[in-house]
Amino acid sequence: MKSAGPNVDLHCHSTVSDGALAPREVALRAHANGVDVWALTDHDEVGGLAEAAKAAREVDMRFVPGVEISVTWAGHTVHIVGLRFDPSNTALVEGLRKTRAGRADRARRMGERLAGMGMPGAYEGALPFAGNPELISRTHFARYLVEAGYCPDVQTVFNKFLGDDCPGHVPMQWATLAEAVGWIRGAGGMAVIAHPGRYKYTPLQFAALFDEFLDLGGEGIEVTTGSHTPEDARRYADVARRYGFLASRGSDFHSPTESRADLGRLPPLPPDLKPVWQDWL
Ligand code: AMP
Ligand code: MN
Ligand code: MN
Ligand code: MN
Repeated sequence: MKSAGPNVDLHCHSTVSDGALAPREVALRAHANGVDVWALTDHDEVGGLAEAAKAAREVDMRFVPGVEISVTWAGHTVHIVGLRFDPSNTALVEGLRKTRAGRADRARRMGERLAGMGMPGAYEGALPFAGNPELISRTHFARYLVEAGYCPDVQTVFNKFLGDDCPGHVPMQWATLAEAVGWIRGAGGMAVIAHPGRYKYTPLQFAALFDEFLDLGGEGIEVTTGSHTPEDARRYADVARRYGFLASRGSDFHSPTESRADLGRLPPLPPDLKPVWQDWL
């Protein structure tokens, strides 16, 4: 849906992490869908940003460097989106490298777990799905398990085997919240809490997360995202108002066949919220 303002999509993935399309293809699809301001936000990796920026320039679409950093907070994973930073910043690049480092070993352990559950060869099967060998993720395992016929689609794999509370999931110790926000801000960027509706925290924990994030200099929260139900969007619009967060909008597009929302195809933000892009345009 196109609002009166620009069509802004600040969350999506390419083959550099767990998306199905190359950065250039994601850019062209965003443009074709009417996106005016676009960020590519691969997991823990900025390696796709140069190609994305070039493709965006070719079609005259405004590009914003992005990343989605994996964080462990109170024993669970939280994703922090960084926007409009310097992708060559040394501390950020090194921090992301460190964050990615445990993935290969975790993938082998995930393969062992799945083998124990009657699905042998999943590690070897998932590897070819990972466009970036440093960034093998649960999504690549899910695509393999669909191809191998264990599940009809990726969502079913997560529901049955790989979701956070499922037996095939091998938890990781990711970056701390302070590290992630620090790397983004140190590189001149803005930190945004991704899809808060996905986290299973108590109300007290959510309050502590938002307070800590603000104390660290975090500024934004996703309100309109492909990961939210309409009720989630209303709830986190209220959170944005109460905490004074800037509001973000992003599809979290991964693939034409797997994603709930396509690039640029989301409702607009509630008009009273201050968008993260208020000073960019
Ligand atoms: P990882 O970073 O390897 O733990 O994988 C996380 C990725 O798996 C997320 O970015 C999503 O793309 C996907 N994912 C996680 N949980 C779910 C879920 N419940 N349903 C669908 N996809 C999910
Ligand atoms: Mn993902
Ligand atoms: Mn995420
Ligand atoms: Mn994402």
